[in-house]
Amino acid sequence: MADQLPVLKPGSTLGILGGGQLGRMLIMAAARLGLRCHVYSPEPDSCAFDVAAEKTCAAYDDDNALTRFANSVDLITYEFENVPAETADFLVTNRNAVLPDPAILATTQDRLAEKNFLIDFGIGTAPFAEIGSEVDIAVAIVQIPPPAVLKTRRLGYDGKGQAVVHSDSDTAASWKGLGEVPAILEGFIKFEREFSVVAARGRDGSFAAYDPIENVHRDHILHQSLVPAALTPALAKEAVAITKKIADELAYVGVLAVEMFVVAKDGKRQLLVNEIAPRVHNSGHWTIDGASASQFEQHIRAIAGWPLAQPRRLGKVEMTNLIGEEIENWKKLLAEPGAALHIYGKREARPGRKMGHVTRVKPEK
Ligand code: AMP
Repeated sequence: MADQLPVLKPGSTLGILGGGQLGRMLIMAAARLGLRCHVYSPEPDSCAFDVAAEKTCAAYDDDNALTRFANSVDLITYEFENVPAETADFLVTNRNAVLPDPAILATTQDRLAEKNFLIDFGIGTAPFAEIGSEVDIAVAIVQIPPPAVLKTRRLGYDGKGQAVVHSDSDTAASWKGLGEVPAILEGFIKFEREFSVVAARGRDGSFAAYDPIENVHRDHILHQSLVPAALTPALAKEAVAITKKIADELAYVGVLAVEMFVVAKDGKRQLLVNEIAPRVHNSGHWTIDGASASQFEQHIRAIAGWPLAQPRRLGKVEMTNLIGEEIENWKKLLAEPGAALHIYGKREARPGRKMGHVTRVKPEK
């Protein structure tokens, strides 16, 4: 479908579903390339609204608002992967110009479908089992002994929708704690490190990846991304090859991120895929200041039908998220030589809320 769409011209309007910081940074990159953006979000205080040329604040099931939105834009994308399937279908039917193809969301919105997709293509994952009841956990825990992680199949992020099952006696509490919804039980991986690959696939199948990014989490929320990740060249190459395989199999168009674990097994290192994010990704924010073309620009190039950039890394990069009250350090960070500060303009600094980030690029030794 993507190859039949007209190439987007500067001056066109891009529609973005979702109004968070990813949308905000996408809009800023789009503006540099001469595109206007129309943001659609149900949240009145969406921080992407502040920088958008046009905005629609309406529910994802408001067909009239969706129709007006679709008619006002030349191409639609999303910054939020939990766009309801019905919304995406409605827009595809009305506009036939939504990239990445929302059909991909059926795989990436459901942890079970995602895991099955990965193993079908021979890509390693944590051992897992489908869970539909408390009894299923008791059965699965025989194959996947504690500690194990119970994850809701849908709508989990930043550690939400997850519970660690520490022992056989934990099953009832975990099942109830997550709201008794369809889930998967996953083996707890004692990983050496955790990293992601952010890459783009163009309409013509062209592919470009950034160097793998090492990610450090605190309280299940991304704290810091370090580039390059401390991986051997062979593992880094394998990680990029896995990402390309996923993008090709999905016939993906746009930027995606693949989160992976490195585990030591029998004296060797093995890569396991944890999650696919069908969008620009927090671990790719460093690319704004630390690469010759950012992930946001790359996403726009890919969906617009433009040539992908071949991004060069500008040094050794560290990106630190500013969560909740940490944003109060903004003056100090502004005074720090070489630190690039990004403030998302969110009105309220709630605990756990991503308020901004700071990137430090150092010369490569
Ligand atoms: P997720 O929502 O699946 O991206 O998980 C959030 C974070 O929880 C990951 O980045 C890991 O740090 C941790 N995590 C998730 N799944 C596992 C697992 N199976 N074993 C160990 N840690 C995990």
